[in-house]
Formats: sequence, C-alpha cells, structure tokens
Amino acid sequence: MKNRCQIVFTRNDIRKPDNNLLPLRINMKRFELSEQQEILVEDPIYTEYSLENVDEDLLKSIMRAGTIDAYCSNCESLSVFQLKGDEKHAFCNNNSIFENYGLITVNAICTRKNIYDVIEECENNFYAIFRREGDVLLKIGQHPSKADLDFGVLDESFKELPKQYRKEFGSAIGLFAHGVGIGSFVYLRRIFDKLVNEAKEAASGQPDWNEEVYNKLRMNEKIRMLDVLLPQRLVQSAHLYGFLSKGIHELDEKECKEKFPLVKQAIQLILKERHANKEFHQIIYNINR
Ligand SMILES: [Zn+2]
Repeated sequence: MKNRCQIVFTRNDIRKPDNNLLPLRINMKRFELSEQQEILVEDPIYTEYSLENVDEDLLKSIMRAGTIDAYCSNCESLSVFQLKGDEKHAFCNNNSIFENYGLITVNAICTRKNIYDVIEECENNFYAIFRREGDVLLKIGQHPSKADLDFGVLDESFKELPKQYRKEFGSAIGLFAHGVGIGSFVYLRRIFDKLVNEAKEAASGQPDWNEEVYNKLRMNEKIRMLDVLLPQRLVQSAHLYGFLSKGIHELDEKECKEKFPLVKQAIQLILKERHANKEFHQIIYNINR
C-alpha cells in the first residue's frame, strides 16, 4: 500500500494569539476622555487605540473613574455603571500606575437602587478587558457583550417583530460586536431585502400585477413601485440599499465598522415604523369592527 500524505498537527501548530496573529494595526482609534463610553461599551472587540502621547492620568481617568451607561440584565433596563478600582486580575500595582505590557481589566457596577429597598444597589458587574503593549491598547473582551447590550436596550416594539427579522438583526449586531464589519452589513441588507419582498408578496395578489416586469426593475424602482406598501422611512431612504450593497462589495472593514451604528439605527427605525403601522391598522380595524 502506498504511503498517503498525512497532515499531523503538533501542539506548536495550535498557537496562542500573539503579536503576529492579531489583526493588522492600521486603523487605531483616538484615546480621549470624551470617548470613554465608546471605548468601554460601544466599540467592538479587537478595536485598537494608540496611547502615543497619552499620559497615565488620562489612562486612569478612562479605566478607573467616572460612569458609563449600559444595559443591566439584572435591572432589565439601561443603567448607570460606576467604575471601580483595580481587581486582582488587573495588571497594575497600586491602581494608579498601569504597566506598559499586560492586561487591564475594567470593572464597573450597576448603581441602580432596588425599588423595594432604597439602601440596596443592584451592583451587577460590567467588565471590559484590554491588552496593552506599550503605546498600543487592544480591546480583547467585554461582558456583557455589545450584542447582549444592544438587544437589551431594544424596545418592546422591536421584540414583537417576527422571528426572521430579529434573527437577521441579531446576527448583524453579533458580528459587529465581534469586530466584523462587512459581514454585519450583509445581514442588514438581508433585512432590507425581506421588507421589500414582504411588500411585493402583498402586491402580487393584485389583478394588474406583472411579475416579469417587476423582476427586471432595479431596487430603487421596485421601492417606488411598492411605495404605499412599504414603511415610508424605507421609501425615503431607498439609497440605503445601494449603500449597503456598496458596503458589501466596495467598502473596507474599517468603513463598514464606522458606518454600522448609523445604518443599524436607520434599519431599526424602519422596523419600528413597520411595527407601528401594523399596530395602527389593527386599532383602526378594531374600531370599525
Ligand atoms: Zn442593575
């Protein structure tokens, strides 16, 4: 029997993340006190910050003092979290000096008062973890994750949306929270597609509907044709589809990540309008019944 080529993995092949395997350091973010909320809560993991010309006092102000806003799963609402001092896992000696290399753990606790006991605070924990290498700081972890936080603050109208929209929206948020820009755009575009398809399904029951003509139209023409059946915010922002497509085919990861929060917000508002329209029609139907 002939020898077959075998691929054998050794322990050395399964390498821990090191300098060479980390994402490229080409798009570092500014590190400023005004950005504290962004850095600790909003930015996806694997975001990098330049600490060049950043003094230790500023680092301490951002990592050890002040408050952040985040969703608290215990209170089930948006809460103010107070930053605490060093924990034993933090890589610093006395809470005032950060080592040049190593991990920095940020810990904050929910300050919301228990409604049944004004003395007691919720004290649920929020963590963000960074790895510092000299002048470079890399966000490597967050708990609860950005996706959990985003889902937590979505209002009731969104939670009532059909499973398919929530699933696609959740995938977009989850991918963004893990530092994936272009992939998160794909899921937002799928929601856009689904909304237009939903309107098309409703229109195709009409006697003068011509499927062949519809299929040949460009997306903005389809939206114009389905005008009255679509949320008006979607009609007004028909160019958003072109932007999402551009994101998938032409924009790079950095551009997609920068634009994602705004595009996500636009899609979220369109979905809310869809929900409000349905609710309104149900109320009118009930009145006329
Ligand atoms: Zn809480």
